[in-house]
Amino acid sequence: MRPICRCAVVSVVLPAVAACAPARPAMAPAPAPPLTLTVVYPPLTADSGGWRAIAPLGSADSTFVFGSVSRPDAVVRVNGVPAAVAATGGWLAWLGLPADTVAVVAVVASREGERTEVRFSAALPQRYRPPGVGAWIDTTSLEPTGSAWLRPGEGVRLRVRAAPEARVQLRVGDSTVVPFVRDAALPALPWGERAFGTVPPAPRAPAPDRFSAWWVGPLGSDPGAVLAPAPGDTSDASWPVLEVTLGDDTARTRWPLRAAVLPPEAPTVAIVNDDTAGTGTTDRQLAGRPAPHATYHWFFPNGTRAVVSGRRNDQVRLQLSQRAAAWVDARDVQPLPPGTPPPGGATQALRLVPGPASVVLRIPLPGMVPFRVDEDAARVRLTLYGVAANADWIQYGGTDPLVTLIRFAVPAEDETEIVVELAEPVWGYRTWWSGHDLLLEIRRPPAIDRRHPLRGRVIALDPGHPPGGATGPTGLYEGDAVLAVAREAERLFAAAGARVVLLRTDGAPLGLVERVTAAEAADADVLLSIHANALPDGVNPFVNHGTSVYYFHPRSASLARHVNRALVGALGVRDLGMGRGDLALARPTWMPAVLTEGLFMMIPEQEALLRDPDGRRRYARGLVEGTAAFLAERADAR
Ligand SMILES: [Zn+2]
Repeated sequence: MRPICRCAVVSVVLPAVAACAPARPAMAPAPAPPLTLTVVYPPLTADSGGWRAIAPLGSADSTFVFGSVSRPDAVVRVNGVPAAVAATGGWLAWLGLPADTVAVVAVVASREGERTEVRFSAALPQRYRPPGVGAWIDTTSLEPTGSAWLRPGEGVRLRVRAAPEARVQLRVGDSTVVPFVRDAALPALPWGERAFGTVPPAPRAPAPDRFSAWWVGPLGSDPGAVLAPAPGDTSDASWPVLEVTLGDDTARTRWPLRAAVLPPEAPTVAIVNDDTAGTGTTDRQLAGRPAPHATYHWFFPNGTRAVVSGRRNDQVRLQLSQRAAAWVDARDVQPLPPGTPPPGGATQALRLVPGPASVVLRIPLPGMVPFRVDEDAARVRLTLYGVAANADWIQYGGTDPLVTLIRFAVPAEDETEIVVELAEPVWGYRTWWSGHDLLLEIRRPPAIDRRHPLRGRVIALDPGHPPGGATGPTGLYEGDAVLAVAREAERLFAAAGARVVLLRTDGAPLGLVERVTAAEAADADVLLSIHANALPDGVNPFVNHGTSVYYFHPRSASLARHVNRALVGALGVRDLGMGRGDLALARPTWMPAVLTEGLFMMIPEQEALLRDPDGRRRYARGLVEGTAAFLAERADAR
């Protein structure tokens, strides 16, 4: 899973009730420490009603609870069910939750007449409980809500949960009725397996109480200008009304959605700026997503301009070309004055400038248009949006051994593709603007000694957190554990001839942007971000645990594969496998970069490995061996 950043937890430590302990004879050996019990997750606080979880649980059907006891030979029961106690005293339990708004959990530790207990309550996510009869609407299920701005002709998919067998329709204004269709009335398409196993499994058939509809055109009152702050909820009479009828019973509710259609004759042009407050601490680029709040796919530098073609609440759609669009955070785009024409024009002659450590391709453009860089084995592809291809000259600036061919293609009238073919696989690249020119810098791969692949290499090691980070059952903090692993790895890398850049060296919080910037400033050949995993609420830790390694760009997949294999070999825990993850420390483009989740903080035996100097050494050894294997493979690719 993606690392879940849980802030420092409040633990509850209770001493045992000693009343039942037998009297000790005089001159006995030193007494064993009293039995104490600690609950680490969920974090608890005390109030007049006793202990309660600080935050509501994120899951309504099952949760994990973990902590430790002072004696590993104690028996721990969570709501009556025994939980295994590790040699460190750590324990972990997975329990079902009641169909209620509050769960009560009793953790009892006992040993030879000693007994101690932590009983706490936890709020559960609010769930709508339909009445057994009549017409009903689950008003928490209305999708979408808020404000939307659409292209002319674009529709909105409406979804709601309501009484099965009911007639469901939306009344828009005085005369328009939008009928809903029941999901179960359509051919059934069972849900497949998710990337990570979840409990309970995905439903196998459509629920009989789910309905959907399609609406094209404005809805409700006008939400205003597309790049104005989103309007608040007002008690306006012009909201659409959902009507659910079953027999002679009818339920109605306001659908809190308003949608406007953007006028094509007066386009709003926006400029990207992720740092309007001028903090200077951002990465000066804005992530573009294929759907609202979806994964990162584009990275637009500040200053990029594009036409706005839609909005859903805090997500704005930038129209990159006639056929391509990206969703971005609304707070990071500002409108240019009304009447500003959309960006566009044509490319001009390209020029390659070879340098000792990289080659730079200079692309003159009409302005800061949106672009995207893709990589594919030994190829870097630059897609320019809103730009026609007119690269009538391509100057190679010599006969560089790295660049074998530069070509361009015209995938669409207003898109240009420039492809740089390389003599060996991509190592890294970066882009920046210089006035009207976009510069694409492609890094020369390092000269790797096949027999001593780490010799002379610069390895950036990033101990994950703080801020955030997980805490294990005995209170071990992820940030401390992975810093110790990184220091051990630093020693092993140095012994193999590499130079290590340790991105965090103490317990002070360090931002993600600062870490990436430091790795790039050091021209690191490889970046390893070291973590220990945690799960979000509701995922069964007994099913999902083990070693995993995440990459983002294709060039890093081989590094992830080698490091994952080496970590599994060194740590001897289950193999969750490599994966692609949209993680800041896996996203740098200047070098192969991966994020390792070698062990799970919350699994008592794996937390014990992270506490143990030998376990830390094994984690570090996996990092070194995997990196060496990747470098050796790249040396062989020459
Ligand atoms: Zn982490």
